[in-house]
Amino acid sequence: MNTAASPTALHATGVHQHFGTGSRTVHAVAGVDLEIQRGEIVALLGANGAGKTTFLDMVLGFTTPASGTLTVLGESPKTAVSGGRVGAVLQTGGLLHDLTVRETVAMVAACHASHIPVDAALERAGATGIARRRVRKCSGGEQQRLRFALALLTEPDLLLLDEPTAGMDVRARKEFWETMQAEAERGRTIVFATHFLQEAADFADRIVLMRAGRIVVDGPVDEVTRAGHRTLSGVWDGARSPEEVAADLGITEAVVHQSGRVRFTTEDTDGLARVLLSQGLAHELSITAASLDDVFLDLTADDAPEAGPQTGPATASQAAPEAAGTSTARPTPEGSLP
Ligand code: ATP
Repeated sequence: MNTAASPTALHATGVHQHFGTGSRTVHAVAGVDLEIQRGEIVALLGANGAGKTTFLDMVLGFTTPASGTLTVLGESPKTAVSGGRVGAVLQTGGLLHDLTVRETVAMVAACHASHIPVDAALERAGATGIARRRVRKCSGGEQQRLRFALALLTEPDLLLLDEPTAGMDVRARKEFWETMQAEAERGRTIVFATHFLQEAADFADRIVLMRAGRIVVDGPVDEVTRAGHRTLSGVWDGARSPEEVAADLGITEAVVHQSGRVRFTTEDTDGLARVLLSQGLAHELSITAASLDDVFLDLTADDAPEAGPQTGPATASQAAPEAAGTSTARPTPEGSLP
């Protein structure tokens, strides 16, 4: 790995990308500002169509931003990628079905001026056991391991993974992240796109969430996953109705009556609990945090709040402010090599 030079793995300022023209223009990436330091593990989250792949394609030099500046490891994306400093595990394409796993890695290795031994790449990607298997017989998860082995060949400083565990079962997913963890411990910068907040929470240090081409949340994993509503429920004792008390406290969410209990949804469940207990309004209180799925749905909802332009990294606690294969080569159709 090249550990010298720029401390910044990725730097984007005002990056835009669009498809189509006129009234049919799709603003896939609509002003992304992002800085990722070397050694960070960043999860890029967002619902379908949020702009993650379009952004990663620009980072990989496959496309050029319509406007804005983008540097990778202090260089243009194309220079960084052609120098073998960026590896990618993409969702589809780039594999020849008639080759074995080992033959594929050997063939791609031959295209690089410098690379680690083929067997080392296979081992590090956890693909030694499938080295003699034909690509066509590999499961989706095994093909991802092969793409991972290819991505490791040049000892890249930056690894980009676009939904790397799509199609993997629970065990394969766990094993994949264990091998990826080992790569992170070598000091590699890892940026991965995922739909699963749980996957981000388990593996990343930082979450960057895109919505409609913009970064709307950028913060440490703990902070982002703590965001979102909580639920407080209890048995009501008060003379006044729970709705009246909620209105006094500025709780605008609906109060639900269920199975003899009253349930409030609010971000400040602790404050509400203090009021209810100190005024003898309810007993047997229980507080439940939103599940990660709920948090993801809240953050990615079309009507989630957005604030003004981002001036630095936005954080989850800023109420979701707006701001915001393989290989070292361009993705190619299934059946052709990069
Ligand atoms: P997913 O999670 O489904 O992979 P994503 O966050 O990666 O989604 P993108 O694939 O970047 O989203 O797509 C962003 C938007 O740009 C979508 O509305 C998509 O339809 C559109 N888009 C992407 N590529 C093209 C293209 N080549 N031509 C026209 N529109 C495109």
